Amino acid sequence: MIIKHKKSLIIGAVFLVVILLLFLSDQRIKIIDKTNELMRSSSLKYGTRLLSQINQIVVHHSASIGQTAEDYARYHVQSKGWPGIGYTFILEIDGTIVQAHPLNVVSYNTGGVNTRTIGICLSGDFTKQEPSPQQLKSLKKLIKYLRKTLPQQLAVYGHKDYGTTSCPGPHLYKHLKQFQFA
Ligand SMILES: [Zn+2]
Repeated sequence: MIIKHKKSLIIGAVFLVVILLLFLSDQRIKIIDKTNELMRSSSLKYGTRLLSQINQIVVHHSASIGQTAEDYARYHVQSKGWPGIGYTFILEIDGTIVQAHPLNVVSYNTGGVNTRTIGICLSGDFTKQEPSPQQLKSLKKLIKYLRKTLPQQLAVYGHKDYGTTSCPGPHLYKHLKQFQFA
């Protein structure tokens, strides 16, 4: 009887550890580093900043369906003539988090405030569709990670807070409120 009891205790403990490990691995952030991979200009180069100059995150959408970081990089370099892709992070439709620049690089994403902004773009057109649950989960993880990585407070805005654009679309914008400071 005692032996049987011991056995079930061990099984119970192993079960708890497995659940805990599953929980922890789900909390961990996985970032795909494409800082040296995406198309960039051969002649132009983005400037840099001190990490202490960053005080906000601006969320965008790609306003396109079925495109990825590679497409935005090509568009920004070839059509807009920028030094490289405008966003620091891209969240693909399956939730994959792509980093396009180190945090100290000032890329173009929000006119007039690029130096203090980390631009995050979710792939999709959220005037027409909802962001995927995986994208929203990744956005939450990434914001939490950035707020942990940088000691200063980071506010979260949508691109439309800065001008006459519908970016990041109402279906994504409505999710941003939860990230404001209480
Ligand atoms: Zn935008």
